[in-house]
Amino acid sequence: MLSVDVKLVLMPVILVAWFVGCSKQEPYRIDGFENFSPEQKEAVVSVFSKLNEDAGRTLVSESGDGYRISIHLADELNNASEQGHAEMSLSGCTITLLRSLRLSLLKAVAIHELGHCLGLPHVQPTYGAVMSPQTGPIEVYYSGSSYQEFIESLLQTPRLH
Ligand SMILES: [Zn+2]
Repeated sequence: MLSVDVKLVLMPVILVAWFVGCSKQEPYRIDGFENFSPEQKEAVVSVFSKLNEDAGRTLVSESGDGYRISIHLADELNNASEQGHAEMSLSGCTITLLRSLRLSLLKAVAIHELGHCLGLPHVQPTYGAVMSPQTGPIEVYYSGSSYQEFIESLLQTPRLH
């Protein structure tokens, strides 16, 4: 009798764990670059490639099977104070970036919004931190320790476990 009860309790737990495991397939799939010029696309692809390299595994790829991330450029965002925006849903994440951003800022905002898509919240406003609400050019991230901290927190998000 006891063993039956234990099975009944464990079965839903096992099913939920299986489902959650399946929904976290890597690499996440970068699904389309809308309205990008070749230079803008190259800039964002290069920053994502570097992220994969620095993380030591392929987190995002244009040919992945995982959670879909689509990226768009727009002339303006709903919130005029934003340079980029990430909208998450069960089926995927949509990143919108301001078209007018120069390339080094476009890269910085892209990697920040990707952080949101992969489950990272904002950190305390700190100059040079990738997930700080205030963004600086990508060179600022790469020159400090904050980029390494970003990679480490990325690898610890539940979405990548
Ligand atoms: Zn943000």
